[in-house]
Amino acid sequence: MPINPAESQGMDKRGGKTTQSGLSDVDEFAGLSAGPAWPEPCGKGSPGMLHSCGLPTDGGNQPTAKKVPGENLALSHVTASRRSVCFGLATWALALRTFGDTRGVAACNVGPPEMTIDPATLQAHGIQSVSSSRLVLYTDLPLSSAIAELPQVFEAAFPQWCRYFGVDPARHPRWQCKAILIGRGEHIIEAGLLPPELPPFRFGFARGREIWFVNPPSDYYRRHLLLHEGVHAFMNTILGDCGPTWYMEGIAEYLATHRWEDGRLELAYFPRQADELSLWGRIRMVRQDLQGGKFLRLEDILGLRPRDDESVELYGWCWAAATFFDRHPRYQQAFRSLPQWVRRAEFNQHFRQMVGPYWPWAEHEWALFVHTLEFGHDLSREAIDFTPGIPLPPQGREVTVAADRGWQNTGIFLDKAVQYEILARGRYQLGQHPVIWWCEPNGVTIRYYRGKPLGMLLGAVVPADQSFRTEAGSFVNPHPLGLRGLLIPSETGTLFLRVNDSPAELADNVGSLTAVIRPMQPAA
Ligand SMILES: [Zn+2]
Repeated sequence: MPINPAESQGMDKRGGKTTQSGLSDVDEFAGLSAGPAWPEPCGKGSPGMLHSCGLPTDGGNQPTAKKVPGENLALSHVTASRRSVCFGLATWALALRTFGDTRGVAACNVGPPEMTIDPATLQAHGIQSVSSSRLVLYTDLPLSSAIAELPQVFEAAFPQWCRYFGVDPARHPRWQCKAILIGRGEHIIEAGLLPPELPPFRFGFARGREIWFVNPPSDYYRRHLLLHEGVHAFMNTILGDCGPTWYMEGIAEYLATHRWEDGRLELAYFPRQADELSLWGRIRMVRQDLQGGKFLRLEDILGLRPRDDESVELYGWCWAAATFFDRHPRYQQAFRSLPQWVRRAEFNQHFRQMVGPYWPWAEHEWALFVHTLEFGHDLSREAIDFTPGIPLPPQGREVTVAADRGWQNTGIFLDKAVQYEILARGRYQLGQHPVIWWCEPNGVTIRYYRGKPLGMLLGAVVPADQSFRTEAGSFVNPHPLGLRGLLIPSETGTLFLRVNDSPAELADNVGSLTAVIRPMQPAA
């Protein structure tokens, strides 16, 4: 995969030119011939679909994951200047129109004026509308309460987007989107709400302050699609661009993933359970790709282009990358500086410069993050300091390991030619409900995590030269140490320790253990 194609693509996009990638950055329209109901099972798209499905179908290999029926939906996305098309693999049964050859749409850099909407025409075709100050929604569907409240959801999102992107809402008092929620579709077309110049899309499309999206069989996912397109509309019309593909899709997915409860909207929500957000499935996509042997480094993700979504990796990976950067204490500031750069061709270079010498650390932490990705993953507690350790004195050294953190650098450099003894002691808590779970370094055998007793002391050795790490290395296959462990490192490097627990369940741990590491003898 090319390292930095996004920059050149971004330049072209900003320059308003039709590029090589631009000419092919709109996918075939998948589902406008009568097809199966949403969502289509993995790998069984309609004949008109270009993509072959790579979507996960359940919770993958994680012990806490549960299967969610029907969650195999994903988006993919293309963009032309000031337009955003989001579509996915699940087909839907709408028979709207045949777009014919849909390539080359990116040539239409200057979009037509917004639709003129005639109330009498809408009424004649049974199109209903609901509105708030930030959204007017038109639909051919009955106005269920979940649909009728969409303008309120959008209303609640706007100030949060302003806060996130550093925009003063008072400067945009009249900013309002039009959204077309498409049910069966015929009446939408007859009412003139699907302009013929629109490129094909499967799930959603944004052009200026206009949004079109296809009704999914999920109240959550309907809001998600609207919010995803809303982020594109906000960025395109207020920030002036969405940035390169990875950021455009990553931030839209990140900010569209939400909770909506009792009229309160929480954006950038990290789901805590597999079945919490109906039809969402970003974690599943990443897990399934990893199971299939596909791993994307951060550099790969920065280089994603719209056409790189044929395996629908784009949405899961971009969501994961945005989540990683935005929630990681070391990279958050750099990531949150990016909205100022969305119109600049140097977007990715700026980001790399901001992360600076920590980029190799980020790659390594990223690899660990996606390989251990959990619902409710606590990135702040999983942040790792990779500063190389110093050699162990002959008498050994004592270190403290906090129970409520992920991998912790001992500051000790181990030699692969030496055998080490690690003696641990201490009593700490692994949970507090319904009663306190006390634990010692051997762990508790009433519950296992990743094949080892919960709370067990684990060790990993990270080589000093870790600039090229494309996998999580010894962190995902750690040494079980317990009360007394013997360790012969397979590589010379720095020793890291932690107690065995899910990255989603560190917050309720309390206390620490003490470990003494001392050299025994040169390994045989
Ligand atoms: Zn999108």
